[in-house]
Amino acid sequence: MRAWIRTAIRRDCGRCGIVVQPGEPVLRLTFPMDSTKALYRCEGCAGPAPTDEALTADVAPPADRSAMFERIRKLLGANDHDWKLSQSGDDR
Ligand SMILES: [Zn+2]
Repeated sequence: MRAWIRTAIRRDCGRCGIVVQPGEPVLRLTFPMDSTKALYRCEGCAGPAPTDEALTADVAPPADRSAMFERIRKLLGANDHDWKLSQSGDDR
């Protein structure tokens, strides 16, 4: 399936390799056999993008995982002790 989207994150064009910056139109190619994979083409390779109204929204950018890791770390009761430093004997 071919769909022009306004990308929310940086995308690499799979044909020429240029980086398409967030907010610019990019052609997304998806396959019915595997919906998890997508290919991206820039305007230079896929032709001119349609008008702004015809562009569909991109998927949301990935969530900040560091905040989630902090919550998990607090749940596990981990502290900020540097175990590698204590193994070397320099933790004083
Ligand atoms: Zn390209």
